[in-house]
Amino acid sequence: MNYHQYHPIDVVNGPGTRCTLFVSGCVHQCKGCYNKGTWSLHSGHTYNEQLEQQIITDLNDMRIKRRGLSLSGGDPLHPQNLASILQLVKRVKTECVGKDIWLWTGYTLNELSDAQRQVIEYVDVLIDGKFEQDKADPSLEWRGSANQIIHQFKL
Ligand code: SF4
Repeated sequence: MNYHQYHPIDVVNGPGTRCTLFVSGCVHQCKGCYNKGTWSLHSGHTYNEQLEQQIITDLNDMRIKRRGLSLSGGDPLHPQNLASILQLVKRVKTECVGKDIWLWTGYTLNELSDAQRQVIEYVDVLIDGKFEQDKADPSLEWRGSANQIIHQFKL
């Protein structure tokens, strides 16, 4: 997996103070996408064990308390990203007690494959669906267009 940006302290992408990872790779090609540079799986930087460990360490850092991890992109549920994302969310849920996981994807919940659903088992909140420019609304919280749904599984 490749990623574009990692923010160890983020107060914009999800509630509270969080760690946020923007991964590379997206097949959805939404008109008006704010992040076209992430579409290629080969864009950005190589994600590795060192960064995975850094995310775990940051989430457990008591000096700046994080509420959880946000996963965005690109698309964390791109088939090529699933192995790395699954390993990360499993580690967060076993090693970072009480931290929530929010995940943004261009797929809708009902079109997820079994492999994608494996990741969702560890996710607390899923924001799903493509960005649709004709339904865009800047007043919406945590989503760009009205067709996208916030699924709160565990909060
Ligand atoms: S799902 Fe997100 S990153 Fe992918 S094309 Fe749509 S808006 Fe862009």
